[in-house]
Amino acid sequence: GARENTQKHFAVFAFPFTTHAAPLLALVRKLSESAPDSKFHFFNTAQSNASLFSKDHDCERVKPWSVDTGLPKGYKSTKGPSNEPLEYFLKATPGNFETAVAETGLPFDGIISDAFLWFAKEMAEEMRVPWIPYFTAGPRALLVHVVADDLRARLGINGPKDQTLEFLPGFSAIRAVDIPEGIISGSFDSPFQMMMCKMGQMLPHASAVAINSFEEIDPIVVKTLKSRLSNLLNIGPFVLRTPPTSDSDIHGCLDWLDQHMRSSVAYISFGSSATPSPNELKALAEGLEASKFPFLWSFKGNAQEMLPRGFLKRTKNRGMIVPWAPQLIVLGHPSVGVFVTHCGWNSVSESIIGGVPMICRPFFAEQKLNQKTVEAVWGFGVGVEGGMFTKNGTIKALQVILSSEEGKLMKEKIGILQELAFNALDTDGSSTVNFNSLVDLVSRC
Ligand code: UDP
Repeated sequence: GARENTQKHFAVFAFPFTTHAAPLLALVRKLSESAPDSKFHFFNTAQSNASLFSKDHDCERVKPWSVDTGLPKGYKSTKGPSNEPLEYFLKATPGNFETAVAETGLPFDGIISDAFLWFAKEMAEEMRVPWIPYFTAGPRALLVHVVADDLRARLGINGPKDQTLEFLPGFSAIRAVDIPEGIISGSFDSPFQMMMCKMGQMLPHASAVAINSFEEIDPIVVKTLKSRLSNLLNIGPFVLRTPPTSDSDIHGCLDWLDQHMRSSVAYISFGSSATPSPNELKALAEGLEASKFPFLWSFKGNAQEMLPRGFLKRTKNRGMIVPWAPQLIVLGHPSVGVFVTHCGWNSVSESIIGGVPMICRPFFAEQKLNQKTVEAVWGFGVGVEGGMFTKNGTIKALQVILSSEEGKLMKEKIGILQELAFNALDTDGSSTVNFNSLVDLVSRC
C-alpha cells in the first residue's frame, strides 16, 4: 500500500558487550515513536537480542535481527571473565553485519550504530546514506579517542604516568595514567584497541554523533568536542526518557531500603562485567562489616562461596545481597547514601540522577578517566586508597561519604549536577532540543 512505499528503513548496529546494546535500543525505540514512518532493524547477536526483546515483542517498528558471534562451532566459554567472545566477535566484523544486512534484502535509508562499530561509516558510504553513531559513554571518553593522535604526540607512548594533560582544556587534573588503554599505553594491536583507534578517526566524518550525556555536565569538553565533530548531539541522560518501572524490583530491594534511615545505605555494584578479585571481595566485605553501615549489594556469582565464611549470617540484619537490582530506582531511593561502583558511564549517570556520591573502583576502558573526573573535576566521589579494596581503605571511604563534612559537600555538588541533568531533559532543555534535531535528521534521511 501507500504506506509501504513511504516507509523508511534504518539499519541499527549494536555492540553486544557490557552495557551498550540496551541504551542503543532505548534510543531507537524513542526514535521510532517520533518517526512513525520509519522501521528500525536492530542487528545484534541472538543472545544479546534475547535479553533485550521479549518474546511477544511487536516487530512493526523495531525488529531484531541476528548477527553471527564469530565463535567457533562448539565453543565453550571459560569459567569467569574472558575476552575471548569479544575477540571472536571483532574478528567476524564487519562480515557478520554485512551478511545479516544483505539477508534482509532491504534497501536502507541510513545506518545508526554503536560508535564503536566504525565500519558502519564505510557501509553507509557504499549505500550512499547517512551514518549516525551513538556513543554510549561520556564526553571525556569520547574526546580522548577523537584526539588520540594529539595525545600521542604530546605525551609519547608509555611516557611518565603522572604527567597531566594541561594542554587539553578542562583536563589539567587528568594524568596520563587515567587515559584508557590503547591510546598512549597498554596494548595497541588488540582487536578492541584497533577498533577504538579507527572509531576516533571515523567519528569526524559522521552525519551526526549522538552521545548519552548532557552539555551542561562538562561545558569545556563539550566545546572542544564540537570543534572536532560536525554535529555533536548530547541527548542524555537518556535513561530518564525510558526509566524502568518498580515492578522490575523482583528481589524486594525497595521494601528493604524503606526500612533504613535517610542517606545511610551503601549500594554496591560493578556493572555487567567487572568483578573484583577474590582478595578484594574479601576486603570489601570485611570493610563493610567493620564499618557497620547498612549495605545493598548487587552481586554476580555465588555470594556464599565467594565472600568470607559467616559474613552473610553476621551481617544479615543490615546487609542485603541480590543478583540484580533496579539500579536507577535504587539510587533514587532516599535511604541510599553512597554508591560503590566501577564507574561505568551508565552508573555515573545514574548516580547523578539519584544525587548519590560515589566510591570508585575502576577496572577497564574509560572507567579510570570517569573516576578521576568524578573526584577531581566534579568533586562528588572518592577513589579507594591505593586503587584497590582493602579493609581499612573501604572503611575510610565509607566514612568520608556517609559521615563527614566532606561527604556532605559532595552530596551538595552532585545535587547541582542532578538538577542540571533533569533540566536538560525538560521540554526546552538542551538534551530535548538535541534529540529533536536527531529526529529531524532521521526524518530527512
Ligand atoms: N544494573 C542494574 N542492576 C544491577 C547492576 C547493573 O540495573 O544490579 C545496570 C545499571 O543500572 C547500569 C548498567 O547495568 O545501567 C551498568 O552499566 P555501566 O555502564 O555502569 O557498566 P557496564 O555494564 O557497561 O560495565
